[in-house]
Amino acid sequence: MTDELIKPRPAVAAIEAYDPQHIEVGINLSANENSYGLPDDARAKLTALVKTLELNRYPDPGAVELRRAIAARHGVGVENVIIGNGGDELIQALLLAYGGPGRTAVTFGPTFSMYGILSAVTATGFADLPRDALFDVPADASAAVEAAGGDIVFACSPNNPSGNAMDEAAIRALATGVAGLVVIDEAYQEFSGTTGVELLGDYRNLAVLRTFSKAFSLAGLRVGYLLADAEVARNINKVRLPYNVNVFSQAAAGALLAEPGPLEEIIADIVRERGRLARALAGLDGFTTYPSAANFLLVRCSRSADEVWRGLIEAGILVRNLSFAPGLKGCLRITVGTPGQNDSVIEALGRLA
Ligand code: PMP
Repeated sequence: MTDELIKPRPAVAAIEAYDPQHIEVGINLSANENSYGLPDDARAKLTALVKTLELNRYPDPGAVELRRAIAARHGVGVENVIIGNGGDELIQALLLAYGGPGRTAVTFGPTFSMYGILSAVTATGFADLPRDALFDVPADASAAVEAAGGDIVFACSPNNPSGNAMDEAAIRALATGVAGLVVIDEAYQEFSGTTGVELLGDYRNLAVLRTFSKAFSLAGLRVGYLLADAEVARNINKVRLPYNVNVFSQAAAGALLAEPGPLEEIIADIVRERGRLARALAGLDGFTTYPSAANFLLVRCSRSADEVWRGLIEAGILVRNLSFAPGLKGCLRITVGTPGQNDSVIEALGRLA
C-alpha cells in the first residue's frame, strides 16, 4: 500500500456532487417539498401502519400491491409500472438501462440538474439543448435531439426550475420525432393538470416519471414511479436493485393512494397560494416572476440575487439561489409555502426589492 489513494474513474473525478444548498433556517422553501406536510388523519394512519408491518422481512421485491394501486390510478397495467427509491433512482435506472458508453442522453436546459449528473455517473454522453426565452421546449426539438444523437430524452414538465409545462402537442411532437426513449419528468404534475399519461398508449417510446415527494408530501420516504411500455419496464427491472423501496415506504404510499381526498385539498390550497404569491410579487418593483404550473416560482431579481438570497436567510427563509446557472442569472426559486410562510416571503422581498 502507498500513501496515494486510488482515484475514481476520470468521469467520476470530474463530477460535482449534487448540492441541495441546505442551511438550517426557520422556513425552508428551497427543495419544492410539500410545505403543508401530511394531513393529521393521514399521519395517524401511517403511524398505526408501522405496528402492522413485519420489519424483519425484506419488502415485496416486486412492490406488487403499490404498483397495482398506481396502475389503477392511472388506468395502465401493473406491468407498466416500476417503483423507485424516489424519482432520482429511476432516472439513474433509465440511464443504466438505456444510456452508458456510446449512448447519449438529451435534455432541455435550464432544467433539473440530476439528468446531467447521472449521465456522467453512468458514462452516458449528455447534450443540454436550450429552451426558448420563455423556457419552453422549442417546436423543432425532436430534430435537435436526433441531430445530437439522443438515445434517451428527459423533458421536465412542469420544468424545474422555470415552472412551465409542456402541452399535449409538444409531448406528441417529441414522442413522434424522436427514435429513442422520451421520458416526461412529471415530478410536479399534480400542481399542473397537463400530463403525458394519457398518451402512453399511443407511443411505445414514451415514459412518464412521477414521485410521491412533492404533492404527496412523502419526500422523506423516497418513493417514485415510472409509467412505461412493458418492455421498457422489464429492462428497468433488470438494473434496479432488489428491495429498492422499503417496507414502510411501499405501505405508506399505498395508504395515501387509497384515500387521496385530503391531499387533493392541500394541493388545491398550494395552487391558490401560488397564485397569491405570484400576484404579490408582481406588485413589487425589482422582481420578474415567471408563470408556474408547479409548487414553486422562478423569480428574477433586478438587483443582485446573491444579496436578495442572503437577505432572505437573515429573515429566516431559505430559497434556492440559481443565479450561477446558465440562463438563470439573477434567479431565485421559491417553493410555495403555507399562507403564513408566504406572507413572510412577501414581507421580506418587499424590504429587499
Ligand atoms: N424530477 C424533478 C424535476 C425534481 O425536481 C425532483 C426532485 N428535486 C425529482 C425528479 C426527484 O425527486 P425524488 O427523488 O424525491 O422523487
